[in-house]
Amino acid sequence: MSEQTVRLLIHGASGRMGEALLRLCAEQGGCQVVAAVTRKSPAQRVIDGVPFFAAKELSGVPAFDVAIDFSLPEGFDPVLDLCVVRGAALVSGTTGLSDAQRAALDEAAKSIPLVWASNFSLGVAVLTELVERAAAALPGWDCDVVEAHHSQKKDAPSGTALTLGEAAAANGAKVNYASLRAGDIVGEHTVQFTGLGERLELVHRAGNRDIFARGALHAASRIAGKPAAAYRVRDLLN
Ligand code: NAD
Repeated sequence: MSEQTVRLLIHGASGRMGEALLRLCAEQGGCQVVAAVTRKSPAQRVIDGVPFFAAKELSGVPAFDVAIDFSLPEGFDPVLDLCVVRGAALVSGTTGLSDAQRAALDEAAKSIPLVWASNFSLGVAVLTELVERAAAALPGWDCDVVEAHHSQKKDAPSGTALTLGEAAAANGAKVNYASLRAGDIVGEHTVQFTGLGERLELVHRAGNRDIFARGALHAASRIAGKPAAAYRVRDLLN
């Protein structure tokens, strides 16, 4: 499937992530957006050759291989249901899902391939693996997850910081968190292991939202045609 053009449905197409996905897909090739779905009726039916649909028209969209969903929790259930009905794969980065929605994802993974992640950057996927290795190799060292984001971000620590901390804790580390909110920082995460007389720092800096869109497109190209299961971003890296 990865050698073929992957037919995509972009759900949340008018949002910041949706716009990045449409732009990058047009630039990089290997994928074709057969449906772009927005909450309200689109002002134009076709933009740059891409057909647009309103959320209420979701059941009538043309055949697709993978839905990429970066919308809001209230838009999530219909796109998950559509993927199950059509036997298509789902790549979702929508955050704030309820416990019931997470359970529905687990159930859907019995019949379709899907990946949900709070962070689709490939760098963070690799960072998570490095954190696991470092935590396992450095028992007894202090472990601190330090994150910085723009001043509008309300939650702290960030979801990504918690994911990194959980990866360290699962490998024996006792984790502390620190958060900084300042200016227009897109997102920085440092996982710091401190021993006696030495310190290891693993750092990821996000420069813009394209890294999440690129990661989602990469995951979409890898997940198309795979057996039904819940995949992690790291499972789809190569
Ligand atoms: P945004 O507010 O700019 O866009 C939201 C989009 O969702 C819009 O196109 C809107 O029309 C659509 N939408 C809203 N309600 C809908 C509904 N009921 N049915 C269908 N579509 C609906 O948001 P954004 O910044 O593009 O972020 C979108 C989501 O992606 C958020 O949940 C955000 O937290 C998440 N996000 C995840 C990652 C990651 O790597 N996992 C990265 C960035 C953002």
